[in-house]
Amino acid sequence: MAQDTTKQAPQEKQTNCLACNKPLRKIKQYYRNGKYFCTKKCWRVALQKAKEEKNAKE
Ligand SMILES: [Zn+2]
Repeated sequence: MAQDTTKQAPQEKQTNCLACNKPLRKIKQYYRNGKYFCTKKCWRVALQKAKEEKNAKE
């Protein structure tokens, strides 16, 4: 039986901050809108990024 790696991997638990990509620590993490960040600041950074990407599309 060959492993099917082409299939979409099951949603892995997010282990890194979306903004700075640092590994998230269990104690210190900021959860917002279904995503994890290491700090509130990083959440804001990611939020800003998403905003800019949205604007760039238009
Ligand atoms: Zn971070």
